[in-house]
Amino acid sequence: MPVRIPFDNTYARLPERFYIRLDPKPVAAPRLVRVNAALAEMLRIDPDALASPEGVAILSGTRVPEGAEPIALAYAGHQFGQFVPRLGDGRAILLGEVVGRDGIRRDIQLKGSGRTPFSRGADGRAALGPVLREYIVSEAMAALGVPTTRALAAVTTGEPVYRETPLPGAVLTRVAASHIRVGTFQYFAARGDAEAIRLLADYTIVRHYPEAAAAAHPHRALFAAVVARQAELVAQWLLVGFIHGVMNTDNTSVAGETIDYGPCAFMDAFDPAAVFSSIDTFGRYAYGNQPRIAQWNLARLAEALLSLLGEGEESTAAAVEWAQDALAAFVPRFEAAWLGGLRRKIGLSTVREGDDELAADLLRRMAENRADFTLTFRRLCDAAAGPESDAGVRALFTDPAAYDTWAARWRARLLEEPGGPEACCAVMRAANPAVIPRNHLVEAALGAAVEREDLGPFEALLEVLSRPYEERPGLERYATPPRPEERVLRTFCGT
Ligand code: AMP
Ligand code: MG
Repeated sequence: MPVRIPFDNTYARLPERFYIRLDPKPVAAPRLVRVNAALAEMLRIDPDALASPEGVAILSGTRVPEGAEPIALAYAGHQFGQFVPRLGDGRAILLGEVVGRDGIRRDIQLKGSGRTPFSRGADGRAALGPVLREYIVSEAMAALGVPTTRALAAVTTGEPVYRETPLPGAVLTRVAASHIRVGTFQYFAARGDAEAIRLLADYTIVRHYPEAAAAAHPHRALFAAVVARQAELVAQWLLVGFIHGVMNTDNTSVAGETIDYGPCAFMDAFDPAAVFSSIDTFGRYAYGNQPRIAQWNLARLAEALLSLLGEGEESTAAAVEWAQDALAAFVPRFEAAWLGGLRRKIGLSTVREGDDELAADLLRRMAENRADFTLTFRRLCDAAAGPESDAGVRALFTDPAAYDTWAARWRARLLEEPGGPEACCAVMRAANPAVIPRNHLVEAALGAAVEREDLGPFEALLEVLSRPYEERPGLERYATPPRPEERVLRTFCGT
Protein backbone atom coordinates (compact mmCIF):
# COMPACT_ATOMS: atom_id res chain seq x y z
CA MET A 1 0.00 0.00 0.00
CA PRO A 2 1.55 3.36 -0.94
CA VAL A 3 2.38 5.50 2.07
CA ARG A 4 2.00 9.23 1.56
CA ILE A 5 3.47 11.42 4.25
CA PRO A 6 2.90 15.10 3.45
CA PHE A 7 6.41 16.28 4.32
CA ASP A 8 7.12 19.98 4.39
CA ASN A 9 10.64 20.33 5.75
CA THR A 10 12.22 23.47 7.16
CA TYR A 11 15.01 22.38 9.54
CA ALA A 12 16.79 20.73 6.61
CA ARG A 13 16.86 24.20 4.98
CA LEU A 14 19.10 25.51 7.77
CA PRO A 15 22.87 25.44 7.04
CA GLU A 16 24.60 22.09 6.78
CA ARG A 17 26.40 22.52 10.12
CA PHE A 18 23.06 22.12 11.97
CA TYR A 19 22.88 18.40 11.13
CA ILE A 20 24.36 15.53 9.18
CA ARG A 21 22.44 14.13 6.26
CA LEU A 22 22.16 10.38 6.40
CA ASP A 23 19.57 7.64 6.02
CA PRO A 24 18.35 5.43 8.82
CA LYS A 25 19.87 1.93 8.76
CA PRO A 26 17.75 -0.90 7.32
CA VAL A 27 16.80 -3.74 9.68
CA ALA A 28 16.51 -7.50 9.19
CA ALA A 29 12.86 -8.29 9.81
CA PRO A 30 10.67 -5.33 10.75
CA ARG A 31 7.36 -6.06 12.44
CA LEU A 32 4.65 -3.71 13.52
CA VAL A 33 3.93 -3.36 17.21
CA ARG A 34 1.44 -0.52 16.99
CA VAL A 35 0.35 2.48 14.96
CA ASN A 36 -1.28 5.40 16.74
CA ALA A 37 -4.21 5.76 14.36
CA ALA A 38 -5.68 8.94 15.84
CA LEU A 39 -2.34 10.73 15.75
CA ALA A 40 -1.68 9.54 12.19
CA GLU A 41 -5.04 10.96 11.08
CA MET A 42 -4.21 14.25 12.74
CA LEU A 43 -0.95 14.35 10.80
CA ARG A 44 -2.80 13.61 7.53
CA ILE A 45 -1.23 10.16 7.24
CA ASP A 46 -3.34 7.07 6.48
CA PRO A 47 -2.92 4.74 9.49
CA ASP A 48 -3.71 1.64 7.41
CA ALA A 49 -0.96 2.54 4.98
CA LEU A 50 1.45 2.96 7.92
CA ALA A 51 0.50 -0.51 9.15
CA SER A 52 1.09 -2.07 5.69
CA PRO A 53 4.42 -3.76 4.83
CA GLU A 54 5.59 -0.60 3.08
CA GLY A 55 4.61 1.49 6.11
CA VAL A 56 6.44 -0.85 8.47
CA ALA A 57 9.52 -0.67 6.21
CA ILE A 58 9.40 3.11 6.65
CA LEU A 59 8.77 3.01 10.39
CA SER A 60 11.75 0.69 10.88
CA GLY A 61 14.09 2.89 8.86
CA THR A 62 14.42 0.23 6.17
CA ARG A 63 12.92 2.43 3.50
CA VAL A 64 13.03 6.22 3.20
CA PRO A 65 9.62 7.65 2.29
CA GLU A 66 9.10 10.13 -0.50
CA GLY A 67 9.62 13.71 0.61
CA ALA A 68 11.73 12.79 3.65
CA GLU A 69 15.12 14.47 4.06
CA PRO A 70 16.72 12.31 6.76
CA ILE A 71 19.10 14.16 9.09
CA ALA A 72 20.77 13.59 12.47
CA LEU A 73 20.65 16.86 14.42
CA ALA A 74 23.68 18.36 16.11
CA TYR A 75 23.42 19.40 19.75
CA ALA A 76 25.43 19.60 22.95
CA GLY A 77 24.27 19.39 26.54
CA HIS A 78 24.92 19.43 30.23
CA GLN A 79 24.48 15.85 31.43
CA PHE A 80 24.09 15.71 35.21
CA GLY A 81 25.85 19.06 35.39
CA GLN A 82 28.78 18.18 33.10
CA PHE A 83 29.03 19.92 29.75
CA VAL A 84 29.46 17.71 26.68
CA PRO A 85 30.11 19.91 23.63
CA ARG A 86 28.96 17.35 21.06
CA LEU A 87 26.09 14.92 21.67
CA GLY A 88 23.69 15.00 18.74
CA ASP A 89 21.28 12.36 17.46
CA GLY A 90 23.31 9.23 18.13
CA ARG A 91 20.39 6.91 17.53
CA ALA A 92 17.72 9.03 15.96
CA ILE A 93 16.97 10.38 12.51
CA LEU A 94 14.63 13.23 11.71
CA LEU A 95 12.72 12.18 8.60
CA GLY A 96 11.09 15.56 8.14
CA GLU A 97 8.15 17.72 9.19
CA VAL A 98 4.43 17.66 8.53
CA VAL A 99 1.78 20.26 9.21
CA GLY A 100 -1.14 18.58 10.97
CA ARG A 101 -4.86 19.18 10.60
CA ASP A 102 -4.53 21.54 13.56
CA GLY A 103 -2.13 23.71 11.56
CA ILE A 104 0.81 22.84 13.82
CA ARG A 105 4.10 21.80 12.26
CA ARG A 106 5.68 18.71 13.80
CA ASP A 107 8.82 16.64 13.41
CA ILE A 108 8.64 12.96 12.55
CA GLN A 109 11.66 11.21 14.00
CA LEU A 110 12.80 7.60 14.13
CA LYS A 111 14.43 6.72 17.44
CA GLY A 112 16.60 3.60 17.51
CA SER A 113 17.28 3.83 13.78
CA GLY A 114 20.97 2.94 13.75
CA ARG A 115 24.37 4.52 14.17
CA THR A 116 25.17 8.08 13.14
CA PRO A 117 28.38 10.11 13.38
CA PHE A 118 27.02 11.24 16.79
CA SER A 119 26.84 7.71 18.22
CA ARG A 120 30.12 7.96 20.17
CA GLY A 121 30.79 4.23 20.18
CA ALA A 122 27.23 3.18 21.06
CA ASP A 123 25.06 1.03 18.79
CA GLY A 124 22.47 3.56 17.65
CA ARG A 125 19.70 1.18 18.60
CA ALA A 126 16.88 0.97 21.13
CA ALA A 127 15.46 -2.03 22.96
CA LEU A 128 11.76 -2.86 22.84
CA GLY A 129 11.19 -2.20 26.55
CA PRO A 130 12.31 1.45 26.57
CA VAL A 131 10.50 2.06 23.27
CA LEU A 132 7.23 0.82 24.75
CA ARG A 133 7.85 2.80 27.94
CA GLU A 134 8.21 6.00 25.92
CA TYR A 135 5.11 5.07 23.90
CA ILE A 136 3.00 4.52 27.03
CA VAL A 137 4.22 7.43 29.10
CA SER A 138 4.28 10.04 26.34
CA GLU A 139 0.76 9.11 25.22
CA ALA A 140 -0.43 9.13 28.83
CA MET A 141 1.05 12.59 29.33
CA ALA A 142 -0.74 13.83 26.20
CA ALA A 143 -4.04 12.45 27.50
CA LEU A 144 -3.41 14.11 30.87
CA GLY A 145 -3.04 17.42 29.04
CA VAL A 146 0.68 17.87 29.65
CA PRO A 147 2.70 19.21 26.68
CA THR A 148 4.74 16.33 25.32
CA THR A 149 6.20 14.63 22.30
CA ARG A 150 3.97 11.83 21.02
CA ALA A 151 4.34 8.28 19.78
CA LEU A 152 3.18 7.63 16.21
CA ALA A 153 4.30 4.02 16.02
CA ALA A 154 6.53 1.29 17.39
CA VAL A 155 8.08 -1.56 15.42
CA THR A 156 10.49 -4.34 16.25
CA THR A 157 13.56 -4.81 14.09
CA GLY A 158 14.04 -8.56 14.18
CA GLU A 159 17.58 -7.86 15.43
CA PRO A 160 18.86 -8.19 18.98
CA VAL A 161 20.41 -5.28 20.85
CA TYR A 162 22.99 -6.09 23.46
CA ARG A 163 22.59 -4.43 26.83
CA GLU A 164 23.29 -6.55 29.91
CA THR A 165 21.58 -9.33 27.96
CA PRO A 166 20.39 -9.57 24.35
CA LEU A 167 17.04 -7.83 23.96
CA PRO A 168 14.66 -7.42 21.04
CA GLY A 169 15.47 -4.27 19.08
CA ALA A 170 12.79 -1.70 18.26
CA VAL A 171 12.23 1.70 16.69
CA LEU A 172 9.91 4.38 18.01
CA THR A 173 8.45 6.94 15.65
CA ARG A 174 8.35 10.09 17.69
CA VAL A 175 6.38 13.20 16.87
CA ALA A 176 7.48 16.51 18.40
CA ALA A 177 6.74 20.21 18.02
CA SER A 178 10.44 20.26 17.17
CA HIS A 179 13.68 18.76 18.42
CA ILE A 180 15.33 22.08 19.26
CA ARG A 181 16.84 21.71 22.70
CA VAL A 182 18.64 24.04 25.09
CA GLY A 183 21.61 21.92 24.07
CA THR A 184 21.19 22.90 20.41
CA PHE A 185 21.96 26.51 21.33
CA GLN A 186 24.79 25.35 23.56
CA TYR A 187 26.32 23.42 20.67
CA PHE A 188 26.81 26.57 18.64
CA ALA A 189 27.75 28.72 21.64
CA ALA A 190 30.54 26.28 22.53
CA ARG A 191 31.89 26.70 19.01
CA GLY A 192 31.61 30.48 19.09
CA ASP A 193 29.25 30.34 16.11
CA ALA A 194 27.26 33.55 16.67
CA GLU A 195 25.71 33.42 13.23
CA ALA A 196 24.25 29.95 13.86
CA ILE A 197 22.84 31.06 17.21
CA ARG A 198 21.06 33.94 15.52
CA LEU A 199 19.70 31.70 12.77
CA LEU A 200 18.50 29.15 15.30
CA ALA A 201 16.90 31.80 17.51
CA ASP A 202 15.10 33.32 14.54
CA TYR A 203 14.00 29.89 13.38
CA THR A 204 12.68 29.13 16.88
CA ILE A 205 10.72 32.38 16.93
CA VAL A 206 9.04 31.61 13.60
CA ARG A 207 8.29 28.02 14.57
CA HIS A 208 7.34 28.26 18.23
CA TYR A 209 7.03 31.86 19.39
CA PRO A 210 5.77 33.94 16.45
CA GLU A 211 4.43 36.58 18.87
CA ALA A 212 8.04 37.38 19.87
CA ALA A 213 8.74 38.64 16.36
CA ALA A 214 6.57 41.71 17.01
CA ALA A 215 8.31 42.59 20.30
CA ALA A 216 10.71 45.51 20.63
CA HIS A 217 13.53 43.04 21.30
CA PRO A 218 12.49 39.72 19.69
CA HIS A 219 15.34 37.65 21.13
CA ARG A 220 14.62 38.81 24.65
CA ALA A 221 10.94 38.11 24.07
CA LEU A 222 11.93 34.64 22.89
CA PHE A 223 13.94 33.93 26.00
CA ALA A 224 11.21 35.23 28.31
CA ALA A 225 8.64 33.07 26.51
CA VAL A 226 10.79 29.94 26.79
CA VAL A 227 11.18 30.60 30.53
CA ALA A 228 7.42 30.95 30.91
CA ARG A 229 6.63 27.74 29.00
CA GLN A 230 9.22 25.76 30.91
CA ALA A 231 7.83 27.03 34.23
CA GLU A 232 4.31 26.00 33.21
CA LEU A 233 5.54 22.61 32.03
CA VAL A 234 7.34 21.72 35.24
CA ALA A 235 4.34 22.85 37.29
CA GLN A 236 2.21 20.44 35.27
CA TRP A 237 4.68 17.63 35.90
CA LEU A 238 4.50 18.19 39.62
CA LEU A 239 0.72 18.36 39.58
CA VAL A 240 0.47 14.85 38.13
CA GLY A 241 3.36 13.42 40.16
CA PHE A 242 5.74 13.03 37.22
CA ILE A 243 9.50 12.68 37.58
CA HIS A 244 11.42 13.11 34.34
CA GLY A 245 14.59 11.49 35.62
CA VAL A 246 17.11 12.96 33.14
CA MET A 247 16.50 16.70 32.95
CA ASN A 248 19.75 17.37 31.12
CA THR A 249 19.91 20.44 28.88
CA ASP A 250 19.90 18.17 25.83
CA ASN A 251 16.60 16.77 27.08
CA THR A 252 15.00 20.20 27.52
CA SER A 253 12.86 21.19 24.56
CA VAL A 254 12.82 24.89 23.75
CA ALA A 255 9.23 24.43 22.56
CA GLY A 256 8.22 23.53 26.13
CA GLU A 257 7.31 19.89 25.56
CA THR A 258 8.27 16.98 27.76
CA ILE A 259 10.89 15.12 25.74
CA ASP A 260 13.15 12.07 26.04
CA TYR A 261 11.42 9.59 28.28
CA GLY A 262 14.18 7.50 29.78
CA PRO A 263 14.13 6.49 33.44
CA CYS A 264 11.00 8.55 34.09
CA ALA A 265 8.28 7.60 36.56
CA PHE A 266 5.08 8.70 38.25
CA MET A 267 5.05 8.72 42.02
CA ASP A 268 2.85 6.38 43.97
CA ALA A 269 3.25 7.47 47.62
CA PHE A 270 3.89 11.20 47.82
CA ASP A 271 7.53 11.97 48.53
CA PRO A 272 9.10 15.26 47.37
CA ALA A 273 12.55 13.62 47.46
CA ALA A 274 11.51 10.73 45.21
CA VAL A 275 14.13 9.67 42.67
CA PHE A 276 13.75 6.74 40.31
CA SER A 277 16.58 6.92 37.83
CA SER A 278 19.28 4.37 38.56
CA ILE A 279 21.87 6.83 37.24
CA ASP A 280 20.74 9.80 39.37
CA THR A 281 22.88 9.00 42.39
CA PHE A 282 22.64 12.40 44.06
CA GLY A 283 18.95 13.08 43.59
CA ARG A 284 19.68 15.97 41.24
CA TYR A 285 16.46 15.27 39.36
CA ALA A 286 14.27 14.30 42.33
CA TYR A 287 10.57 15.20 42.07
CA GLY A 288 10.79 18.34 44.19
CA ASN A 289 14.05 19.49 42.64
CA GLN A 290 12.65 19.74 39.12
CA PRO A 291 11.71 23.44 39.23
CA ARG A 292 15.22 24.39 40.37
CA ILE A 293 16.80 22.25 37.69
CA ALA A 294 14.56 23.66 34.96
CA GLN A 295 15.69 27.13 36.00
CA TRP A 296 19.32 25.97 36.00
CA ASN A 297 18.86 24.64 32.46
CA LEU A 298 17.35 27.96 31.41
CA ALA A 299 20.39 29.76 32.83
CA ARG A 300 22.49 27.68 30.43
CA LEU A 301 20.19 28.81 27.61
CA ALA A 302 20.64 32.44 28.68
CA GLU A 303 24.42 31.99 28.52
CA ALA A 304 24.21 30.56 25.03
CA LEU A 305 21.96 33.43 23.92
CA LEU A 306 23.83 36.18 25.75
CA SER A 307 25.24 37.93 22.69
CA LEU A 308 21.72 38.24 21.25
CA LEU A 309 20.17 39.26 24.57
CA GLY A 310 22.76 42.03 24.92
CA GLU A 311 22.07 43.62 21.57
CA GLY A 312 21.42 47.34 21.96
CA GLU A 313 23.25 47.40 25.31
CA GLU A 314 26.51 49.20 25.99
CA SER A 315 27.98 46.37 28.07
CA THR A 316 27.79 42.65 28.71
CA ALA A 317 27.01 43.45 32.34
CA ALA A 318 23.73 45.05 31.29
CA ALA A 319 22.84 41.95 29.26
CA VAL A 320 23.66 39.69 32.19
CA GLU A 321 21.49 41.81 34.44
CA TRP A 322 18.59 41.59 32.01
CA ALA A 323 19.04 37.82 31.72
CA GLN A 324 19.10 37.40 35.49
CA ASP A 325 15.82 39.27 35.83
CA ALA A 326 14.27 37.22 33.03
CA LEU A 327 15.44 34.03 34.72
CA ALA A 328 14.12 35.18 38.07
CA ALA A 329 10.69 35.47 36.44
CA PHE A 330 10.67 31.67 36.37
CA VAL A 331 9.86 31.50 40.07
CA PRO A 332 6.62 33.52 40.18
CA ARG A 333 5.51 31.96 36.91
CA PHE A 334 6.08 28.46 38.24
CA GLU A 335 4.43 29.25 41.57
CA ALA A 336 1.37 30.72 39.94
CA ALA A 337 0.95 27.60 37.80
CA TRP A 338 1.70 25.20 40.64
CA LEU A 339 -0.46 26.91 43.24
CA GLY A 340 -3.24 27.50 40.73
CA GLY A 341 -3.15 23.81 39.89
CA LEU A 342 -3.14 22.76 43.53
CA ARG A 343 -6.12 25.00 44.12
CA ARG A 344 -8.05 23.18 41.39
CA LYS A 345 -6.91 19.85 42.79
CA ILE A 346 -8.61 20.63 46.11
CA GLY A 347 -11.70 22.07 44.46
CA LEU A 348 -11.18 25.78 44.90
CA SER A 349 -12.14 28.07 42.06
CA THR A 350 -11.98 31.28 44.07
CA VAL A 351 -8.92 32.70 45.79
CA ARG A 352 -8.81 33.30 49.54
CA GLU A 353 -6.06 34.12 51.96
CA GLY A 354 -4.69 30.89 53.42
CA ASP A 355 -5.49 28.68 50.40
CA ASP A 356 -1.85 28.07 49.55
CA GLU A 357 -1.12 27.11 53.12
CA LEU A 358 -4.11 24.76 53.15
CA ALA A 359 -2.80 22.96 50.06
CA ALA A 360 0.77 22.87 51.39
CA ASP A 361 -0.50 21.42 54.65
CA LEU A 362 -2.22 18.58 52.79
CA LEU A 363 0.97 17.79 50.87
CA ARG A 364 2.97 17.80 54.09
CA ARG A 365 0.56 15.36 55.70
CA MET A 366 0.53 13.17 52.59
CA ALA A 367 4.33 12.98 52.66
CA GLU A 368 4.41 12.18 56.37
CA ASN A 369 1.82 9.48 55.90
CA ARG A 370 3.07 8.00 52.62
CA ALA A 371 -0.33 8.70 51.06
CA ASP A 372 -0.70 7.77 47.40
CA PHE A 373 -0.47 10.99 45.38
CA THR A 374 -2.93 10.22 42.58
CA LEU A 375 -5.46 8.33 44.63
CA THR A 376 -5.58 10.84 47.50
CA PHE A 377 -6.56 13.66 45.16
CA ARG A 378 -8.94 11.47 43.18
CA ARG A 379 -10.75 10.28 46.29
CA LEU A 380 -10.91 13.84 47.58
CA CYS A 381 -13.22 14.52 44.60
CA ASP A 382 -15.88 12.39 46.31
CA ALA A 383 -15.01 13.61 49.78
CA ALA A 384 -15.76 17.17 48.65
CA ALA A 385 -19.45 16.21 48.68
CA GLY A 386 -19.33 15.39 52.39
CA PRO A 387 -17.58 13.47 55.15
CA GLU A 388 -19.55 10.28 54.38
CA SER A 389 -16.98 9.66 51.60
CA ASP A 390 -13.98 10.20 53.85
CA ALA A 391 -13.20 6.53 54.47
CA GLY A 392 -11.51 6.06 51.10
CA VAL A 393 -9.13 8.96 51.67
CA ARG A 394 -8.44 8.16 55.33
CA ALA A 395 -7.38 4.64 54.38
CA LEU A 396 -4.51 6.07 52.34
CA PHE A 397 -2.85 7.73 55.36
CA THR A 398 -0.76 5.71 57.80
CA ASP A 399 -2.33 7.89 60.49
CA PRO A 400 -5.89 8.63 59.29
CA ALA A 401 -6.28 11.35 61.93
CA ALA A 402 -3.74 13.39 59.97
CA TYR A 403 -6.33 13.54 57.20
CA ASP A 404 -9.29 14.23 59.51
CA THR A 405 -7.88 17.41 61.01
CA TRP A 406 -6.95 18.71 57.57
CA ALA A 407 -10.35 17.75 56.11
CA ALA A 408 -12.15 19.76 58.78
CA ARG A 409 -10.32 22.93 57.70
CA TRP A 410 -10.83 22.08 54.03
CA ARG A 411 -14.61 21.59 54.40
CA ALA A 412 -14.94 24.92 56.15
CA ARG A 413 -13.15 26.53 53.22
CA LEU A 414 -15.30 24.70 50.63
CA LEU A 415 -18.39 26.35 52.13
CA GLU A 416 -17.11 29.66 50.77
CA GLU A 417 -17.09 28.30 47.21
CA PRO A 418 -19.96 29.34 44.94
CA GLY A 419 -21.89 26.48 43.35
CA GLY A 420 -21.62 24.17 46.35
CA PRO A 421 -20.06 20.72 46.63
CA GLU A 422 -21.32 19.55 43.23
CA ALA A 423 -19.38 22.27 41.42
CA CYS A 424 -16.29 21.52 43.53
CA CYS A 425 -16.44 17.83 42.64
CA ALA A 426 -16.61 18.63 38.94
CA VAL A 427 -13.64 21.01 39.11
CA MET A 428 -11.68 18.37 40.99
CA ARG A 429 -12.48 15.49 38.65
CA ALA A 430 -11.07 17.50 35.76
CA ALA A 431 -7.86 18.22 37.70
CA ASN A 432 -7.23 14.88 39.38
CA PRO A 433 -6.71 11.88 37.11
CA ALA A 434 -8.07 8.52 38.18
CA VAL A 435 -5.28 6.73 36.35
CA ILE A 436 -1.64 7.45 35.62
CA PRO A 437 0.98 5.10 34.18
CA ARG A 438 1.94 3.45 37.44
CA ASN A 439 5.39 1.90 37.33
CA HIS A 440 4.36 -1.58 38.27
CA LEU A 441 1.77 -1.65 35.48
CA VAL A 442 4.21 -0.21 32.97
CA GLU A 443 6.84 -2.76 33.99
CA ALA A 444 4.32 -5.60 33.74
CA ALA A 445 3.25 -4.46 30.25
CA LEU A 446 6.88 -4.20 29.11
CA GLY A 447 7.74 -7.57 30.63
CA ALA A 448 4.86 -9.31 28.87
CA ALA A 449 5.83 -7.77 25.53
CA VAL A 450 9.55 -8.47 25.83
CA GLU A 451 9.50 -11.87 27.51
CA ARG A 452 6.34 -13.43 26.08
CA GLU A 453 5.64 -11.37 22.96
CA ASP A 454 2.28 -10.64 24.58
CA LEU A 455 1.12 -7.15 23.69
CA GLY A 456 -2.20 -7.54 25.51
CA PRO A 457 -1.20 -5.71 28.71
CA PHE A 458 0.47 -2.92 26.68
CA GLU A 459 -2.67 -2.37 24.59
CA ALA A 460 -4.96 -2.55 27.61
CA LEU A 461 -2.86 -0.04 29.55
CA LEU A 462 -2.78 2.38 26.61
CA GLU A 463 -6.55 2.19 26.32
CA VAL A 464 -7.10 2.94 30.01
CA LEU A 465 -4.60 5.80 29.97
CA SER A 466 -6.21 7.43 26.96
CA ARG A 467 -9.06 8.79 29.12
CA PRO A 468 -7.41 9.34 32.50
CA TYR A 469 -10.02 11.61 34.06
CA GLU A 470 -12.98 9.32 33.44
CA GLU A 471 -14.48 6.99 36.00
CA ARG A 472 -15.06 3.68 34.24
CA PRO A 473 -15.94 0.16 35.34
CA GLY A 474 -12.96 -2.16 35.53
CA LEU A 475 -10.61 0.68 36.36
CA GLU A 476 -9.82 -0.52 39.86
CA ARG A 477 -6.77 -2.56 38.93
CA TYR A 478 -5.22 0.38 37.11
CA ALA A 479 -6.15 3.00 39.70
CA THR A 480 -4.79 1.36 42.82
CA PRO A 481 -1.22 1.67 44.08
CA PRO A 482 1.15 -1.28 43.92
CA ARG A 483 1.24 -3.79 46.75
CA PRO A 484 4.59 -3.65 48.56
CA GLU A 485 5.97 -6.55 46.55
CA GLU A 486 4.89 -4.92 43.27
CA ARG A 487 6.65 -1.63 43.95
CA VAL A 488 9.25 -0.55 41.38
CA LEU A 489 12.09 1.31 43.04
CA ARG A 490 14.32 2.09 40.08
CA THR A 491 13.88 2.70 36.40
CA PHE A 492 16.74 2.30 34.01
CA CYS A 493 17.99 4.52 31.26
CA GLY A 494 16.55 3.84 27.83
CA THR A 495 19.87 3.17 26.13
P1 AMP B 1 19.70 10.33 26.29
O1 AMP B 1 20.32 10.06 27.63
O2 AMP B 1 18.85 9.23 25.76
O3 AMP B 1 19.03 11.65 26.23
O4 AMP B 1 20.92 10.39 25.26
C1 AMP B 1 22.04 11.21 25.42
C2 AMP B 1 22.93 11.12 24.20
O5 AMP B 1 23.39 9.79 24.01
C3 AMP B 1 22.26 11.51 22.90
O6 AMP B 1 23.23 12.16 22.11
C4 AMP B 1 21.87 10.19 22.29
O7 AMP B 1 21.76 10.26 20.90
C5 AMP B 1 23.03 9.31 22.72
N1 AMP B 1 22.64 7.90 22.83
C6 AMP B 1 21.89 7.32 23.78
N2 AMP B 1 21.76 6.00 23.55
C7 AMP B 1 22.44 5.73 22.43
C8 AMP B 1 22.69 4.53 21.67
N3 AMP B 1 22.21 3.35 22.03
N4 AMP B 1 23.45 4.65 20.54
C9 AMP B 1 23.94 5.82 20.18
N5 AMP B 1 23.76 6.97 20.83
C10 AMP B 1 23.01 6.93 21.95
MG1 MG C 1 18.27 12.83 25.03
